[in-house]
Amino acid sequence: MASQTKTRAPSVKEKWGLCCVCLPKSLGGIRFKEGSKWNKVLLAKFFWVISSKQYILWVKWVDVIYLKGQNFWDYKINSDVSWYWRKLVNLKAIITRDELEKAVKKNKLNLRNLYVQMLNKERVQFANVVWCNLALPKHRFILWQATMGHLLTRDNLVHCHLNLESVMCPICDMQQENHGHLFLNCQFAQQVRSIVAVWLGSDVWPVKFEEWSSWMIGRPKGLKQKMAATALAASIYLIWWNRNNCLFNFCFMTVDRIDHLIKFYMKARIVRLPMAKMKGKDLAFF
Ligand SMILES: [Zn+2]
Repeated sequence: MASQTKTRAPSVKEKWGLCCVCLPKSLGGIRFKEGSKWNKVLLAKFFWVISSKQYILWVKWVDVIYLKGQNFWDYKINSDVSWYWRKLVNLKAIITRDELEKAVKKNKLNLRNLYVQMLNKERVQFANVVWCNLALPKHRFILWQATMGHLLTRDNLVHCHLNLESVMCPICDMQQENHGHLFLNCQFAQQVRSIVAVWLGSDVWPVKFEEWSSWMIGRPKGLKQKMAATALAASIYLIWWNRNNCLFNFCFMTVDRIDHLIKFYMKARIVRLPMAKMKGKDLAFF
């Protein structure tokens, strides 16, 4: 009888792309913390105070009653210990000595560092562009969702087994709606892109959605680069806003109106920049 391979059905978290939410921004998330992992990291504080033999009464007590002079990392648990001590020592299987020592800086335990080590994920290159502090927070959030492909476009809704009357792009009604089409290939998005590129002096979009992440590599250092990131975030936000307006309120903004709003948002952010902190090139920009 031929063996049947069972494929695991994706969980709700995976379907809706929520797996990456509980990651730091540098790893592609939005800085929520996964409760079970974070609890373990918090308990690792006890590892630190015990192994570094800090001058605390509880540490002295643990040393006398349980460790009896042994190194915490070499200590083997006995059968006649309390449940909380057993739970704590068993955490050594999850949080290693190396991980803990790497998370110590200037004789202080950095819990965030330890949490990131536990996640064991690669840094994402686009984080600095997506979370550029010149852009409005709501623009950054939509840009992050668009970059991760998490917005509820019609193709994503179909993946979640929702029955839709149409899967076509609500703006042009010419192709199936997905992130690549809506933000890059749709005629409307292309018009916004070309009009912004003219006054910005650079092309702010990649041509293909697959190139999106790799295009946003590098930290926006100067003001010009930050402005490009801000223009991208504002454009994506307004295209998405326009799409929702078109779908639910049957109104539509013109390309010129979107262009005007992008300039308005950028001006509002730039005038609030602290001039005193600006240097050379950035100052000359004004
Ligand atoms: Zn379209």
